[in-house]
Amino acid sequence: MDFRNQIRKMSDDVGRMAREVADTSKKAAARARVRRMIRTCQDSLHMIYEEIGARYYVENRCSPAQQYEGLFQQASDLIEQIDVLKSELAMLDNASICPECGAKLGDSQKFCPECGTKNAAYGKARAEAEAAEVARQAAKEAQQAERAAAQSADDVPAAASVVDVEVAAESDATE
Ligand SMILES: [Zn+2]
Repeated sequence: MDFRNQIRKMSDDVGRMAREVADTSKKAAARARVRRMIRTCQDSLHMIYEEIGARYYVENRCSPAQQYEGLFQQASDLIEQIDVLKSELAMLDNASICPECGAKLGDSQKFCPECGTKNAAYGKARAEAEAAEVARQAAKEAQQAERAAAQSADDVPAAASVVDVEVAAESDATE
């Protein structure tokens, strides 16, 4: 049902209700219905205002009328803030933001699902994660080796003499 038909149907309903209201038992129900209809109209009106405002902002953001300058400034600050927060969120999600439309891009998406722009970060996050994993593994192995060395030094008193022998052999070689 289009918007105008919706309004027409609503005024028909109001007319019918006015007749029903003569019957007092139906009054409370009619009142509730009218309240709901007012609410519906107000919601629609707010959406229309929002649409008008959004369009007016987009059309005039380069040179807002003087009386709107403050509101325009607040709007552009908020838009900027939303962008910052979105990229922060994307970073937390290990995703990136499309430079064209601001949509969130997963690292497994080669193109933006919203506008089709190529995802520059495609595969990059995975490569980074793999590199980080390799580094983590290497650090773990080094730590294990260190721990094992410390343990064998504790467990085997002869280890010291082995080192002594090696040092001796080394100094022999340099002489
Ligand atoms: Zn996009």
